[in-house]
Amino acid sequence: MKLFSFRGGIHPLERKERTRDLPIEVMPMPKRLYVPLQQHIGEPAVAIVSAGEKVRRGQLLGGSAGKVSAPVHSPADGVVVEVTEFASPHPAALPVTTAVIDVDDEQTPWQAPGEDPFTLSGEELARRIREAGIVGMGGATFPSAVKLDQARRHNVDTLIINGGECEPYLTCDDRLMQERGQQMLIGIELMLRCLEASRAVIVVEDNKEAALANLRRLCTNPERIRTVSVPTRYPQGSQKQMMQSVLGREVPAGAHGVELGAIMHNVATAFAVYEALVLGKPLVSRIVTVGGGAVARPANLEVPFGTLVSELLAHCDAAADGDGFGYERLLMGGPMMGQWLPHPEVPIIKGSSGIIALSEEETRVTLPQPCIRCTRCVSVCPSGLLPLELAKRIRKDDFEAAAELGLSDCIACGSCAYVCPSKIPLVQFFHYGKGQLQARRVQSRKLERTAELASAKETRMEAIEREKAEAAAKRKAEQAAKKAAEAAAAATEE
Ligand code: SF4
Ligand code: SF4
Repeated sequence: MKLFSFRGGIHPLERKERTRDLPIEVMPMPKRLYVPLQQHIGEPAVAIVSAGEKVRRGQLLGGSAGKVSAPVHSPADGVVVEVTEFASPHPAALPVTTAVIDVDDEQTPWQAPGEDPFTLSGEELARRIREAGIVGMGGATFPSAVKLDQARRHNVDTLIINGGECEPYLTCDDRLMQERGQQMLIGIELMLRCLEASRAVIVVEDNKEAALANLRRLCTNPERIRTVSVPTRYPQGSQKQMMQSVLGREVPAGAHGVELGAIMHNVATAFAVYEALVLGKPLVSRIVTVGGGAVARPANLEVPFGTLVSELLAHCDAAADGDGFGYERLLMGGPMMGQWLPHPEVPIIKGSSGIIALSEEETRVTLPQPCIRCTRCVSVCPSGLLPLELAKRIRKDDFEAAAELGLSDCIACGSCAYVCPSKIPLVQFFHYGKGQLQARRVQSRKLERTAELASAKETRMEAIEREKAEAAAKRKAEQAAKKAAEAAAAATEE
């Protein structure tokens, strides 16, 4: 199969050597789970359980709240202690509605559905994927069924399965491809059936030799499902870059991959489809890489959602420091596109591919220096942007000019900041600029709405005044007519 390449990109230090050979280990079930109802992009799920209620493993805790939403299920048998606001894995640990569950000592096994999923229609498969709460597990957490429905409407013919895992430290997808490749392929076949698409291409970076070898051995019909190796280069795993690598076509700004006849899902999403449709297990757990220099015993752990990050760190012997853990910085996901966590008392959710506790040595901070216009940032930007010019405009609060330079096309991959010799925190500028533009758009929509309401009120008031004036004129005319009639009658009598 002919492969292509994408522009820009970098080769950051991989730092995968400590976990890539560690088999998936099942994390012991915690005594208490904190399951947020917002674990995906879109509307949060709506709680349908309350304090004191007994729940079964796989039971719905929160239902979908709209077209772009996903249900949330209980990862364990237990009792709901409360449904309350609890810190989420966000840089500010923003509180979100969370079901707190005290877990039973014994857990009931999963019950496979009676029928063969390969006898179900594409529509029915999409419905079951939606009901299982499956979202993009590469970090995007977009509800998978919404993406599949879009692709079904566009008649896509190629399903791209993303096994790139180009973020440093992370090896959870690598281990999944090595250990659960057969189940993943069943998930891919079911997705192909759902899409009525003709082929799937599993794309794996060439630094994952064991995963590539395993999948190539398992893919016995390469016309239907093919495994391809692509050169290791960050951000290979981003949707637009991977589509370019596989199809040789650039997804235009503002467009979707489905418009080019292809759709991309992560390897872990394909495995989740297998678990839901074959084993009857909705999305309630995932594989998480726990690593970083502050972790003594790194691991690839299968973790139920709602487990606190602090429990993962304790399980992996993260260095202790007084009352807390001895890391310098903690992040969820990889260091390039992951989120910094202010503390570890937040739960693992559907998009948590990694928990990385960085040591002081790994986070040596260098103060930013002035831009020397070396243009290294330009040459590595996979979106073809001018990061130095974008940052210059954002620094001057000229957000509209940054928007004109394509700020919305920035995928926040961090390649520019990684190569910048002046250590300018470019991605922080871009997050800030996007936030300001979004806030201005919201503000301008509010102002437009207020102006619309004011204009509607003015029109209503004018109509009322007009009606009043017409009624007064009518009354006056009636009175005049009455007086004239009375005067005429009096004249007749005389
Ligand atoms: S890489 Fe850094 S120093 Fe070089 S042009 Fe870009 S922003 Fe300036
Ligand atoms: S963070 Fe944005 S501007 Fe910087 S390299 Fe990535 S896409 Fe380009």
